[in-house]
Amino acid sequence: METFIGLEIHVQLATRTKLFCPCRADYFQAPPNTLTCPVCLGMPGALPVPNRQAVEYALRVALALGAKVQEKSAFDRKNYFYPDLPKGYQITQRATPLAVGGSLGFRVDGEKRRVRIRELHIEEDAGKLIHTPDGALVDMNRCGVPLVEIVTEPDLRSPKEAREFLRVLRTLLRHLFVSNADMEKGELRCDANLSLSQDGRLGTKVEVKNLNSFRGVERALARAAELQAQLLANGQRVVQATYGWDEGRGELVLQREKEEAHDYRYFPEPDLVALEISQGLLKQVEQGMPELPWVREERFVSQYGLSPGEAAVLLSEPALADYFEQVAAEVGDGREAASWVLSELLRFWGGAGPPVGAGELAQLIRLVADRKISRTNAKGLLEEAIATERPLAEVLAAKKGELAQLSDEEELRRLAREAIAAHPQAAADFRAGKAQALGFLVGQVMRATGGRADARKLSNILQELLSNP
Ligand code: ADP
Ligand code: MG
Ligand code: ZN
Repeated sequence: METFIGLEIHVQLATRTKLFCPCRADYFQAPPNTLTCPVCLGMPGALPVPNRQAVEYALRVALALGAKVQEKSAFDRKNYFYPDLPKGYQITQRATPLAVGGSLGFRVDGEKRRVRIRELHIEEDAGKLIHTPDGALVDMNRCGVPLVEIVTEPDLRSPKEAREFLRVLRTLLRHLFVSNADMEKGELRCDANLSLSQDGRLGTKVEVKNLNSFRGVERALARAAELQAQLLANGQRVVQATYGWDEGRGELVLQREKEEAHDYRYFPEPDLVALEISQGLLKQVEQGMPELPWVREERFVSQYGLSPGEAAVLLSEPALADYFEQVAAEVGDGREAASWVLSELLRFWGGAGPPVGAGELAQLIRLVADRKISRTNAKGLLEEAIATERPLAEVLAAKKGELAQLSDEEELRRLAREAIAAHPQAAADFRAGKAQALGFLVGQVMRATGGRADARKLSNILQELLSNP
């Protein structure tokens, strides 16, 4: 049995204004119905004017995916009634999308995969219904917010691949600075199509609409595959249908079967002329392209000696990748910088940016490298600075003397002798071949010195004393 999955992905473009009017597009925290005008409310006689920035952002995505931008593309009307759609139609691109073809590579379980893109087009978003115990409220702020829709070929082979593909797409969108692509905020959402096949040809698909988390995408598709497998095993046929996903119950919710499929009566949008994309504009967009994340990933691997997995985590947010590169440059050791950023800093990395400055972190890492303070105590200082919201440099200045690493040979030797004398059993255990007894003795000295002892030196001294009593 083979699984075929194709995704239709909606990406909210981070333009300042909406797709066809001057209303602000960052509706996320705005009070309901405060970002509207006659155009996005569909008042009679109001006329749309395309947002150049939205077109340029969409072109950036198209070029990054290696899609072919059509010299001429046009807008169409998709007609339907819904309370959050005051115009009674959505402006989209159907017959002649902005770009066709292209592909995106990603990795799953260390294996390289590539998904073909069928097409990419620009469209406007609808409003939002807010369900309350007293009924549904409607908020038109999102009406006319620009989206780019990316449609893939059914090249994904498992729910997990679908999730990983979306992750890589999110990374790309963020690196292109065209969208925050935050699934929780609905800036990245997708409809997922799946079919199972016994003969290698595409089977009858089911569609799951409006998935808005990576986990949801994977779980909903796994459930759809499970249902189809059951039907096929019982010799029944799959009915083409559209579902929603109930994350709480972990269940698909049937919305409609093929017979009730919408007829949107698409027709060319009469209020807009075709979009003509000149070679000049394309060149300009191309020249403004930032370093693509897969290029940057390869560079992180070759330049800093990171694993592809480490590089991928650092690249999940461009600001994190930039931060890492600043720390690496100041420390002069990419592996060490990555180790600190990934294992000590990442968990404190919120939406607001770095919890401590790159220069400060680099200073701390250098103190550890120069064996001025122990790694354990350095981590403690970092946590303290973050918890108390004080500058790391200040915490460091206050505590550096107190935490100065103890690396004096004679002093360590004396402490090691004391520990051996106080714990004869551990010493005997080590001599009898129990390696972990050494760790116990190191721990005792660490405790006695408040974590200041140079662990590597101490361990060598202990081993030497224990082997030559
Ligand atoms: P529809 O006309 O129902 O919207 P499309 O042919 O436009 O279907 O395809 C929509 C999405 O569904 C695309 O991402 C495509 O790759 C995917 N898809 C189409 N047919 C199948 C299939 N049999 N199995 C899995 N995915 C499919
Ligand atoms: Mg379709
Ligand atoms: Zn408006």
